[in-house]
Amino acid sequence: MRQHTLSTAQQWDREDKLATYRDEFYILENTIYMDGNSLGLLSKRAERTLLQLLDAWKTLGIDGWTEGEHPWFYLSEEVGKKMAPLVGGNENEVIATGSTTTNLHQLVATFYKPMGNKTKILADELNFPSDIYALKSQLQLKGYEPDEHLIRVASPDGRYLREDDIIAAMTEEVALIVLPAVLYRSGQVLDMEKLTKAANERNIPIGFDLCHSVGSVEHELHDWGVDFAFWCTYKHLNGGPGSVGGLFIHEKQFGKAPGLAGWFGSKKASQFDMAHTMDAATDVGAYQIGTPHVLSLAPVIGSLEMFEEIGIEAIREKSLKLTNFMLALVEQELAGAGFTIGNPVDESRGGHLLLEHAEAARICKALKQDGVIPDFRAPNGIRLAPVALYNTFEDVWYTVQKLKVIMDEKRYEQFENKRGVVA
Ligand SMILES: *Cc1c(COP(=O)(O)O)cnc(C)c1O
Repeated sequence: MRQHTLSTAQQWDREDKLATYRDEFYILENTIYMDGNSLGLLSKRAERTLLQLLDAWKTLGIDGWTEGEHPWFYLSEEVGKKMAPLVGGNENEVIATGSTTTNLHQLVATFYKPMGNKTKILADELNFPSDIYALKSQLQLKGYEPDEHLIRVASPDGRYLREDDIIAAMTEEVALIVLPAVLYRSGQVLDMEKLTKAANERNIPIGFDLCHSVGSVEHELHDWGVDFAFWCTYKHLNGGPGSVGGLFIHEKQFGKAPGLAGWFGSKKASQFDMAHTMDAATDVGAYQIGTPHVLSLAPVIGSLEMFEEIGIEAIREKSLKLTNFMLALVEQELAGAGFTIGNPVDESRGGHLLLEHAEAARICKALKQDGVIPDFRAPNGIRLAPVALYNTFEDVWYTVQKLKVIMDEKRYEQFENKRGVVA
């Protein structure tokens, strides 16, 4: 195999068409940030739109709802339209609202219609805990025992799922399917098109959690026929801590009454009639509940400008090149250090890598001490996410070099092998 050197990295940085976007971000000083899949960095554009909306409040008061550059009353729809290309949805199929977990509650409350023997929800055993908690509680609300009615498809190796296993579990008893697009640990991208086709053939509503895929990989939700999807905007979309989530409803599902209703789901023109009979929006807008979190939407507006300019294809292309480079360096520099690659080595992976090691928790602490921000996932995972918009190939080079020194010198031994409160 070809030997990679620092000059390989520098050469690729010079050739990188997205290189100028790094200057659009606040890069932490003396730090290599490899955690954009947990919390994306602040960009100057996101800061600008946040301050803009703060100023609208300052100068317009209540009139900010309908005046100013981004009237708050229409903001959820406006941001939804901007996210639509990232998920392959039509403009009226995507809205910015709620959070990942509350949107999942809304979607299950709407799409889970148990009848006779068709009572089960199909998920997987590698799913993110919050999604599982939400599904279990929704089952309980309907009077079903979660242990019996939540099917979690098993992973053969604790890392990956097999689409064929999931399809085999789509039986007559299944009333709803909820799956991740990219697995939060291993980074595996599920074949959403294949899974959706199988679910559609069996007439089972299917939805995906796009938290780790949106802003990182391409989606064609509309064309694939996905019924619904939901995601957060603070990971690859760089919307800031707790920024407002996203929700997609395929137009074939328009007209369904949302399970959890609220006045912001009304048609805009009639919302302020204040009638006690709701005149629900005829598109994805119906899924909103209450007043939007305007200040948590504001940074998303600026951040999305960059995604619009660049296009998700170019982002994905650079992302794969970054993670391919990191994989090659791990093989070249860290052989014998006891790491196991926990992510797909082919292109069925999202924007991050997973290195598994028995000492992972304290290796992460040593990395942090050396200025590299990784992210630890219990019990033994180190996630590293070189992000196309603001990381360089040189960042990748130095991350692996620092890791090499930590392993060679056993520098991690000065730390306890325990995670922090927020890992
Ligand atoms: C980050 C993440 C969440 C977080 O949900 P919130 O409601 O935003 O706290 C949920 N599911 C997955 C798969 C995630 O990656």
